[in-house]
Amino acid sequence: MSTESTTPTAVTMDKITALCKRRGFVFAGSEIYGGFVGSFDYGPYGVELANNIKAAWWQAMVQHERNIVGLDSAIVTHPKVWEASGHVGGFSDPLVECRECNTRSRADHLLEEIDVFADEKMSVEEINQVFDAHRDKLVCPKCGQKNFGTVRQFNLLAQTNLGNFSEDWSKEPAYLRGETCQGIYLNYKNVLDSSRVKVPFGIAQIGKAFRNEIAPRQYIFRKREFEQMEMQMFVPPAEEMSIYEIWKQKRMQYYVDLGFKPENLRFHEHENLVFYAKAAFDIEYKFPFGFKELEGVHARGNYDLTQHQTFSGVSLEYTDPYTNEKYLPHVVETSVGLDRTFLAVMTEFYDEDNLGGETRTVLRFPFKLAPIKVAVFPLLKNRPELVAKAEEVFALVSKHFRAEFDDNGNVGKRYRRQDEIGTPYCVTIDFDTLGEENPVLKDTVTIRHRDTGEQERVAIADLANYLK
Ligand code: ATP
Repeated sequence: MSTESTTPTAVTMDKITALCKRRGFVFAGSEIYGGFVGSFDYGPYGVELANNIKAAWWQAMVQHERNIVGLDSAIVTHPKVWEASGHVGGFSDPLVECRECNTRSRADHLLEEIDVFADEKMSVEEINQVFDAHRDKLVCPKCGQKNFGTVRQFNLLAQTNLGNFSEDWSKEPAYLRGETCQGIYLNYKNVLDSSRVKVPFGIAQIGKAFRNEIAPRQYIFRKREFEQMEMQMFVPPAEEMSIYEIWKQKRMQYYVDLGFKPENLRFHEHENLVFYAKAAFDIEYKFPFGFKELEGVHARGNYDLTQHQTFSGVSLEYTDPYTNEKYLPHVVETSVGLDRTFLAVMTEFYDEDNLGGETRTVLRFPFKLAPIKVAVFPLLKNRPELVAKAEEVFALVSKHFRAEFDDNGNVGKRYRRQDEIGTPYCVTIDFDTLGEENPVLKDTVTIRHRDTGEQERVAIADLANYLK
């Protein structure tokens, strides 16, 4: 069957959000209550895709690496952790409010839109100076007026009263973690003492993080409750930069290996390094709204361990087993958001083409990411012998893969439904499968390929091996 790509497919946010809602990938959080800003829920296909993204990351970062181990640390920790990390004092974004409509925006993002650089590492005075110099060009995204107040720093840490029963718990709050890596630093010694790892070694973790984002926007790109996939590698100081370079390249290659086009990815060097960092690059992806940060790869020196050692009073030094040298390891970090990866995957593999004269929407997911790997169809739903055989085939393939059974509507429509959710294979059980017309074809099925529409005949006994 011929496929013609209506090249190049313009992937817009409208198309992605509509498909995600229509087909149950992503729903607005608390929708029946009118929504809750910055909150989204993953639906039946979304949770499958998200789980597959996490599994692919875990496979690359833990399974394929000899010296990286996993962790699942608590979301709420001792509050001092966030003092030590610098989040209580300095985890803030520059907030500015529109005097006309009271919409709050990030000052650095408003400036970025007119190509002026500013970031959260600047002092509030510095950012106000830059902001004032460009006020005449800065427009409120909501009402279009140019009447902003003064920029102030707004702390992004979300507080909680978990474990605190005092009247005014906000005086001594605990915090929902603002990033997953602090749990890794807290457990670095535990892992070292309980596993057979030696420096250099890494700890990987996937988990929720929370930030009181001033202006969550661009769908799941910037949420208030989101998920991170982070790896911290603890390295000898002298090897920090060479190990950093390796991880920078590895993380870029990871996306190419997943099937991303190299031209949709690029490195972006941080203009303004925090004082302890040696190097920081973002891997940016070309989202429908332009190139934006997908992942950060950072060389962080020994800042994090130094801070926790000082605040906890517990030595976090490592003793080299060969030289007996004692030192605080330096950290190389790779940090990516699950939700941003999800949006990047939807963008990258979304396509519209013309298959056999019909226009269709198709998600060209690689097999390992596809929410459903195979759909099983009885040709006709009113023929019990076809349905029974299809149920048998479903039971067989679903032992190996996430599969779906569909007997609704004509087969062409069923193909379109599966194309839209990115299912690589559809298997149809027809009268030949029953051996009614040609005994040679008994116990074979038709496999239809998502990307080309091509079909072939395969024995049921070979299906599990074939579908990979
Ligand atoms: P940004 O500059 O876009 O606010 P960041 O530099 O603060 O991001 P990091 O603190 O380096 O982000 O977090 C690591 C990764 O976590 C980011 O690259 C991104 O993929 C993800 N991430 C951060 N904040 C959010 C968020 N609010 N919603 C979804 N993902 C996020």
